[in-house]
Amino acid sequence: MSVTDEVVAPPEWIAVETARRAFATRRTRSLAWRQQQLESLLRMFAENTRRIEKALSDDLGKSRVEGYLTEVSAVVGEVKLTLKHLKRWTSPRTVHAPIALGTARAQVVREPLGTVLIIGPWNYPFHLLFVPLVGALAAGNAVVLKPSEVAPASPTLIAELVAAYLDPEAVQVVQGGVTETTRLLECAFDHIFYTGNGTVGSVVMAAAAKHLTPVTLELGGKSPVWVDDSADIGQVARTLAWGKFINCGQTCVAPDFVLTTPTAAPRLAAALKTAISDYYGADPRTSPDYGRIVNERHATRLAGLLSSGTAVTGGIADVDARYVAPTVLVDVDLDAPVMRDEIFGPILPIVTVPDVGAAIDAINARPKPLALYAFTGKASDRRRLLAETSSGGVAFGSVMVQLGVPALPFGGVGASGMGAYHGELSVRTFSHERAVLRKFRGPDLTRLSRPPFTARTTRLLLGSDR
Ligand code: NAD
Repeated sequence: MSVTDEVVAPPEWIAVETARRAFATRRTRSLAWRQQQLESLLRMFAENTRRIEKALSDDLGKSRVEGYLTEVSAVVGEVKLTLKHLKRWTSPRTVHAPIALGTARAQVVREPLGTVLIIGPWNYPFHLLFVPLVGALAAGNAVVLKPSEVAPASPTLIAELVAAYLDPEAVQVVQGGVTETTRLLECAFDHIFYTGNGTVGSVVMAAAAKHLTPVTLELGGKSPVWVDDSADIGQVARTLAWGKFINCGQTCVAPDFVLTTPTAAPRLAAALKTAISDYYGADPRTSPDYGRIVNERHATRLAGLLSSGTAVTGGIADVDARYVAPTVLVDVDLDAPVMRDEIFGPILPIVTVPDVGAAIDAINARPKPLALYAFTGKASDRRRLLAETSSGGVAFGSVMVQLGVPALPFGGVGASGMGAYHGELSVRTFSHERAVLRKFRGPDLTRLSRPPFTARTTRLLLGSDR
């Protein structure tokens, strides 16, 4: 075969092979390497905060404060927490060994999985790529990162920074879209961690199945909110307006729609209108704190949902400018277009139902959501919501803040995903928990279970009445 006949492997495969070779050197397993990578990650964020904020502003119109709070500080917090507990979270854990084994020690040893793929979405391009990366590095893996091409300024910066700060072989960044991701998915990984929509989630899972690769799927869904008349409606509105309109509603755990009683609905709608104007002024379009929709395709999709009810506030869109006003819709039916798929934009429909039982029925008629929120002073209704529904997570009296508790698992259930992460759970997600038993010399009761089985051992093992 001549030089010109040589088959050139695509760059995505080369990236995977490079990461795999780095893992094979065993250097990623050492505590020192893990620690050093995490410290470099901290430095990377500290020394490039302004550039990261600029990329987020270019991609999503995020204000500096929003970019810092929801992306930079989220990653930095996760790295610091992980560094603090790294030794403990990665050390073998001794567990009880049955007395029948005599003198023995049983341990759970967390070992890295190998080379893992992390596929990120566009809505929090840094947060949702780097928080999983923290767990993957802490667990001692080599990693291939695939940022989303939909938020274009971020992947370019991510590729530059990762190459400059992290192990240039063990941590690879592959840029590009569906073609590049598809090529990556042809490779055999030791784990795939995907965040994004469920349709692509099943593409990822099907590709992983070919290699028996385990997956974590962080998906989305319509996260419902139950509000009843016992709630402090002003406080509910201020909380919902914050959670719904931050990042223009392009948040996987954003409150998607509200279920409430016919008496609370008009009060809530009026209070939401006030809260929106308090946050973003009379014309949110001119507010430096109100973002933009990621692209025209999504802006067009959202504009089409504005007629699903009566707009109490907002209700307008400028697709060319990727602007959709913060909108509250009333008179919305449970089967209106805005109630079909995850909205993933700044439109909050309010649907009335007679009582909490009807709200529970409405929630259970849909796929299991990523989050469930409720504002009620009735402890019995909170208990019912917990006992009679299912969701990835739950927050009572607030929205989205459950994510800020590192000891709480973050993940979905059913259509909203499988697997979870954050804090120590991230290290578990990216580790194999190996069962290790060491038997010491000394008494061994297991010899009773070895043949020949005499009348005495039979009596001892099966009981005297058999
Ligand atoms: P996206 O379009 O950026 O896709 C995510 C990734 O999948 C990208 O890297 C992209 O290149 C890749 N991809 C797209 N099509 C593909 C294909 N056909 N084959 C292989 N790879 C492909 O992001 P998105 O899906 O629009 O993200 C929004 C969704 O993600 C929402 O449903 C949201 O709820 C969900 N989400 C979930 C979480 C969570 O933590 N659970 C967080 C953020 C977003």
